[in-house]
Amino acid sequence: MRLLLKNVVWHDREGDHAGDLRLARGRILASGRGLCPRRWERVLDLQGFRALPGLINAHDHLSLNLLPHLGDPPYASLYHFAEAVHDPGESPVRETQSASVADRLWWGGYKNLISGVTTVVHHDPFPRRVLLHPGFPVHVLRRYGWSHSLHFGDNPAAAFEACADLPFIIHAAEGVDAASHQEITRLHELGMLSSRTVIVHGIAMTNEQLRLMARARASLVWCPVSNLRLYGRTAAIDQFGSEVRIALGTDSTLTGSTTLFDEMRAAVATGLANGSEVLEMVTATAADIFHLSGRGRIVVGNHADLLIVADPGDSPADRLLRSSPADPALVLAGGKVGLARPEFAAELGLGPPNVRLAGEPRWLCGSPVRLRQRIEAAVGSTVLARHPLWALLEPC
Ligand SMILES: [Zn+2]
Repeated sequence: MRLLLKNVVWHDREGDHAGDLRLARGRILASGRGLCPRRWERVLDLQGFRALPGLINAHDHLSLNLLPHLGDPPYASLYHFAEAVHDPGESPVRETQSASVADRLWWGGYKNLISGVTTVVHHDPFPRRVLLHPGFPVHVLRRYGWSHSLHFGDNPAAAFEACADLPFIIHAAEGVDAASHQEITRLHELGMLSSRTVIVHGIAMTNEQLRLMARARASLVWCPVSNLRLYGRTAAIDQFGSEVRIALGTDSTLTGSTTLFDEMRAAVATGLANGSEVLEMVTATAADIFHLSGRGRIVVGNHADLLIVADPGDSPADRLLRSSPADPALVLAGGKVGLARPEFAAELGLGPPNVRLAGEPRWLCGSPVRLRQRIEAAVGSTVLARHPLWALLEPC
């Protein structure tokens, strides 16, 4: 869609700007004041609204977002947690697996879209047919290497080698026991710590291991909600040197937060980062870590990944830290509308609202209501009623 966004406020390295953004072919084509509409271009007046870069969720297991928090924490490590909760025959794991993998992945896509996420880093097998479908609600990082963890991965060192110069993502130091405290050293011994290594969690770290990560210029994905719930501790991100870039991830609803907004609030509540730092973690820094060239900032030439919210005059970070899925007014991923409030959906000719997000009518791309019906038929309403996300995204 060719789109001219009029009278909007946005922010870049130089500060706030007010003016117009011209979008075409999935990119930001031009910015400035008083841009004139062109033929075939739709125009949206965004007076009173602010554009933010579409957010980047640096860690999720998209197919696990039908599961509520499970288990009986605290645990000593990821391995103890997995052993305690991974029983496919037990409720509610059994019921949620009755939904197709594709439906579970799409549900995970919507989970992200409703909090302004336009790019997700998915950590699990990658069904290309689903995740690269042109209608999938968000962009999913495609070019990376990964291994689940040192113990659950299938030859992690070979996986690291195989992905050449791409980011390599692995859960590590996820726990508080002696074994968790060995993992960063083990990665170093295996030659797996480098500037393209992305450690997810990194809770159990000695000072020497912090130095190893800094020397290698490895990166960290911080998931405070998941960490504090499962282990009572999170990564000491204030101890990592400036060489270690840090992004923020929700993890899935099995362990982590329901939305990225919740994760951002929890991150600030730890006292380890302020709102501006957390905003960088979910935009520019994440784009840098995952080689997402052209994402994470509103700059001419970049992808048209935008989150539009009402602008009461506060800072972008404060605005997001007060947001819920009721707040995104418009979300564009690669120039395609994923979410719109009713008046914008009408102006863009998208149709009437099809869902309520935290009670507010919204138009969502694709067929979220049919997806919800299929999931409900497969899983059963008793299990879903216990899931916080189920109540956030309801049919209109
Ligand atoms: Zn994970």
